[in-house]
Amino acid sequence: MRTVYCTGLLILFWLMTAGSSHAQQWSAGAEYVKVPVPTAAEPGGRLDPLTALHELNFSPETFAESNQISRETYWHRFSFPATEKDESLVLSLSNYMIDELDFYLIQDGRLTKHWQRGDTQDWDPEVRYSGIWFEIERAAGQPTELLVRKRSDGPLLFPFRLLEPGEYRAVTERRFRLWGAAAGALVILLLHNIVVFLLARYPAYGLYTIFHVSVFLSIGVTQGFGPWFWPMAFNQWLAANILTLYTLSAWSIYSFTYLFLQLYERVPQWRHYHRPAHVFFALALAASLLLPEYLYATPFVVIQGTLSVLCIVWAIKAIKQGFAPAALYLASWSLFIIGAMVGSLIFHGSLPFNTVTEYTLVVSTVIQLLGFTLSLAFRARHLEQEKNLQMMTSPVSGLPNRTYFLNELVPQGNSRSKSDKVTLILIHLAGLHDLSKAVGPGKTQQATGLLAQRLNQTLLAIPGIQEHRLPNGTKASIIDMGQDHLLFLCRNISKVSSVIRTIEPALNKTIRLDELEFKQLFSIGVAHTVEAELDLITLYQKAQMAADENWRSSALWSEYQAGLMQHQRQQLQLVAALSATIHAANFQFLIQPKVELATRRITSGELLLRWHHPELGQVPPDVFITLAEQVGLIFKLTSVVMQLAFRWVKAHEADLGDTTLALNISARDLLQANFATEAIALCTTEGVAPSRFVLEITETTAIGDKAIAVENADQLRAAGFGISIDDFGAGYSSMQNINRLSPNEIKIDRLFVSDLATNVTHSTLCRSLIRLSLDLQTCATAEGIETAEQLAMLEAWGCQSGQGYYLFRPQPPEDYLDLLRAQASTQPATSG
Ligand code: C2E
Ligand code: CA
Ligand code: CA
Repeated sequence: MRTVYCTGLLILFWLMTAGSSHAQQWSAGAEYVKVPVPTAAEPGGRLDPLTALHELNFSPETFAESNQISRETYWHRFSFPATEKDESLVLSLSNYMIDELDFYLIQDGRLTKHWQRGDTQDWDPEVRYSGIWFEIERAAGQPTELLVRKRSDGPLLFPFRLLEPGEYRAVTERRFRLWGAAAGALVILLLHNIVVFLLARYPAYGLYTIFHVSVFLSIGVTQGFGPWFWPMAFNQWLAANILTLYTLSAWSIYSFTYLFLQLYERVPQWRHYHRPAHVFFALALAASLLLPEYLYATPFVVIQGTLSVLCIVWAIKAIKQGFAPAALYLASWSLFIIGAMVGSLIFHGSLPFNTVTEYTLVVSTVIQLLGFTLSLAFRARHLEQEKNLQMMTSPVSGLPNRTYFLNELVPQGNSRSKSDKVTLILIHLAGLHDLSKAVGPGKTQQATGLLAQRLNQTLLAIPGIQEHRLPNGTKASIIDMGQDHLLFLCRNISKVSSVIRTIEPALNKTIRLDELEFKQLFSIGVAHTVEAELDLITLYQKAQMAADENWRSSALWSEYQAGLMQHQRQQLQLVAALSATIHAANFQFLIQPKVELATRRITSGELLLRWHHPELGQVPPDVFITLAEQVGLIFKLTSVVMQLAFRWVKAHEADLGDTTLALNISARDLLQANFATEAIALCTTEGVAPSRFVLEITETTAIGDKAIAVENADQLRAAGFGISIDDFGAGYSSMQNINRLSPNEIKIDRLFVSDLATNVTHSTLCRSLIRLSLDLQTCATAEGIETAEQLAMLEAWGCQSGQGYYLFRPQPPEDYLDLLRAQASTQPATSG
């Protein structure tokens, strides 16, 4: 930067000084002096000023040569003829980077004043800093000579002005105000960025802060305002290491660019060069410290140029990829380059060197820094928006998701004008779980994503369907709620049916995914706002219930009916009451005898649970058992029943004789890891033998293929429990289950028994089930025997055991015990 700047000035001086070589009358003026100053090179060791004055051959021709990058020492000579009165002139120099700079004032053959103003010299602490200047006091009637000696290892240019002392003060004051304002702005900006960095710890802010500081320091040095802000010694140190400072800013701007433009994402191949680039900059930094300025200057210009080109190319690439903040970055960066180019034009003489052009680089740097701060803020906003978008859209379909529904739509709905009638239409996609098992979750997601997008396209064309604008500006009608739910909203729509019919083809269309082709099963639930009260969550819930209803019906869609909500509320109350009853173990039970058909003796009793609800009265077990299974209360319920049963058996062991007590167990119990262990442990605690019990398992799902169920059954059987398959022939029962669970008993479902006399299919089935159990050497028990005829047929087919109203109704436990006692007393008669 500095080299560019200095080279510019160099060429400028060459242009300014070419051609004018006659003796000069020096006088004050606001403009930079364009006339060459008589100059001489110092031949050997250091000369004292009086010797230099007399022995050196000062010539204006040497001035151009003395303004180049050189390590020679040069002397300039200003001769002022005698004046009539005392007079002062200020020589003000606009190069703040010369290592050794000595001003010698010689009057009447004597050295009257000597100031040192070089970067490596001691400055007179008495003189207040206000740039590099020297006051030439001319005494009346005496000629005055000013000698300026300069030496450096960088450019030695000598842009100067001669000013009246008053004018110099005015110029300095203007400069001071200008720099005060500019530097103040930069400092505030810097503090802002530091605070943001400390709060957010976003590394780009840190790098930018380093860049900012180094730019601030370097323009402070090159423009000469630095010593107003920091000690002269520090300023001199900076001047001596200015290229190190530039390298540091190049390094930080590179790292900043890497993060800011996310090059690791946008230019992934650069990732390989990123580490070497750091090594390179570290080496460059070392070189800048070790090498003299005139050697390192050229490589640095190359680094700076390459970096500029790279930054522009990267930024353009990022903009093309849709990264909006890169535009501001590019603008800021370009501004900086424009500043540097203005510098170049100055050295080519295309632009004049004046106050405006002098400040161009500086002003562009300040605006560049401001631009970077803005682009950082812009970037943060952009990322925030992207994050928002990600949060509010489904990754698969790109449509608004549940979060959008809950966080955006629901609050909006609550604050909206209540006059609109809103309809929520919910599409439940069925069978996704099975589909996922068949083709994998990835394909399933892809399929539903396609379907959702297809529906969305169709809906966007229909008037009256609510559109949602996403943070990236795209519009959508479908909300992808996840969990197989897609929904959309209509406002003041007169005919829901026409809307649904319009989307029906899209729903029914075959989905093609690579080699796969399938149709999506669905159900549709519709819910309207009631009395202009818009609570979208309730509306969603209602539509969900309607969709559930729709699944069971054959209609294309179902509308929410008032009863559904009521039903759900009741279910909830029921769950609460059931849970309380389970915790209090407050159940009653009946026992229904099982009879050995050959002897008509009661061999067992089945415990049938009864729940008396304080308000609803008797709740049928089918209802509360199903509910308990649905809400996960069944495990606790089973263990309560077991405890109840075990205690009861323990208390009546004598009366029960060798009969067993059958307990109904949910298939879900058998899928619990510790079910068998706990049941066996409970027997031990209660002091009863497991062999006194039979566990009846109704198959609600296929459990025979689950290892854990088989393990539980094996463990229970080994401990002595009898295992029975309940409702055999209905539901999920399969040969595999019988095989793997090895039951002691099979209970033929009462569905087949109830119409034995009239239904040939059922009677045939019933007969073969009895055959089967005989072959498998398990006991066949027919349930639901209601007539003598049924009983006779079953007996004839060899069914061992039976249960049903014709034999015995479920009894209160006391009555059951009476039955057993009666049977015991008649036993000798029957057997004898
Ligand atoms: P299940 O295990 O099939 O029990 C037999 C059901 O059939 C009982 O109804 C019983 O009263 C009824 N029943 C008996 N004989 C006849 C007959 O001749 N004709 C007709 N039509 N019905 C007859 P209940 O007590 O209402 O029990 C219904 C279901 O509730 C039971 O079916 C059982 O699956 C379940 N359940 C009952 N108590 C419990 C329990 O403690 N735990 C579990 N997990 N389920 C239970
Ligand atoms: Ca049963
Ligand atoms: Ca049954």
